[in-house]
Amino acid sequence: MTPIRCCSLCKKRNEKNNLFRIVADNGLAILDEKQNINSRGIYICKNKKCIENFVKVIDKSKYNLKISLNLDSLKEVLGLLLIRMGE
Ligand SMILES: [Zn+2]
Repeated sequence: MTPIRCCSLCKKRNEKNNLFRIVADNGLAILDEKQNINSRGIYICKNKKCIENFVKVIDKSKYNLKISLNLDSLKEVLGLLLIRMGE
């Protein structure tokens, strides 16, 4: 069975495959493509809307990450994901 994880933003539960995993690598956000990096991470829906909203929330500093993560690097990763999904 596929593990179920929770989107860090909208809190929807989803199969791991349907979420992006972003982990902290020495405090910098990197995309964990294979979802096997042994580090604390956050999950976000593979959904343009959710990623865009995540960026907005970060801009307003309204999101309290439970892991120590450089927010500029997190935004960079989210930006790349948006490009990948097609603007
Ligand atoms: Zn979501």
